[in-house]
Amino acid sequence: EAKRRGAGRVSLASAALIASADRQVHLEGQLREALAKDGLTLHFQPVVGVDGTVLTAEALVRWPHPDRGLLAPDVFLPVAEQGDLLRELDRWVLRTALREASTWPAPNGQPVAVAVNLSGLVPGDPDFVDAVSNAVAESGIDWDRVVLELVETALVDLPSRTRQAMGVLVERGVRFAVDDFGTGYSSLARLKDLPAQIIKVDRRFVSGVGNDPSDFAVARAVVDMARAMGRSCVAEGVETATQFHVLHGVGVDAYQGWLFSRPVPPREFRAVLALGPLHVPRAG
Ligand code: C2E
Ligand code: MG
Ligand code: MG
Ligand code: MG
Repeated sequence: EAKRRGAGRVSLASAALIASADRQVHLEGQLREALAKDGLTLHFQPVVGVDGTVLTAEALVRWPHPDRGLLAPDVFLPVAEQGDLLRELDRWVLRTALREASTWPAPNGQPVAVAVNLSGLVPGDPDFVDAVSNAVAESGIDWDRVVLELVETALVDLPSRTRQAMGVLVERGVRFAVDDFGTGYSSLARLKDLPAQIIKVDRRFVSGVGNDPSDFAVARAVVDMARAMGRSCVAEGVETATQFHVLHGVGVDAYQGWLFSRPVPPREFRAVLALGPLHVPRAG
């Protein structure tokens, strides 16, 4: 009896495993098709200065799935990675985001930059410089409106060829940002070795700055260090006025989060831009 039940359990478990593997393969096929047919979409989230001026917008990919609704990147990026589609996806996002940015109004005469997330693989590709250059040329936007975000772990111990390629783009005006800073392995001291002009402090530390002394200490240390090294500092995931005030107090240059705006579809983002600076909570 017990043995039979045991055997039953095993086969049930493997049935579930096969089903989930099947689903994964199915999803991978659907994603491949979506990529080929422009079936993905981008939302844009503003990054604002201390006075609410929109400085940059981060492109965040979404997948309007035929039967599962709008899927978030956390759900399908692993599928893309599994199916070796991550590079292709990043290139699609790069082209599409830059093209979209070429349509943005600049009400105060100051054009808004566009930030694109890249997986760690992309900068190492032999045609990295060409891929970025082509996207810039195709869109017609200025080089200095392009920000490329990479996580910390993708920026340490780079082969010299990759560093060189990044240097070429920086010389043309592109900026690189360390995304999710503080979640990788590098210490503060290694910040100076990261080839990036912008440091994005991870939401994990931002969320606690108002009430957790150690989160506050981390945020302050990162900002001080970034300043000392001539980098600019962006806080991610700013949700409350308190977080904004505390971060402003330590000298953060720019802010991104639900306090200002959620990521929104392209048309809505253009409308946000047309309204001028976003509301910034008053001190006190
Ligand atoms: P990320 O680059 O750190 O992007 C910020 C994430 O935080 C976004 O999640 C955004 O919606 C979310 N967020 C923004 N403000 C707030 C806030 O105030 N509170 C909270 N709780 N969350 C906030 P999203 O869009 O789900 O993207 C998740 C991650 O997926 C991104 O993290 C990025 O690593 C990756 N990703 C997104 N688009 C792309 C892409 O085109 N290519 C690649 N390679 N990765 C991407
Ligand atoms: Mg990012
Ligand atoms: Mg981030
Ligand atoms: Mg993050």
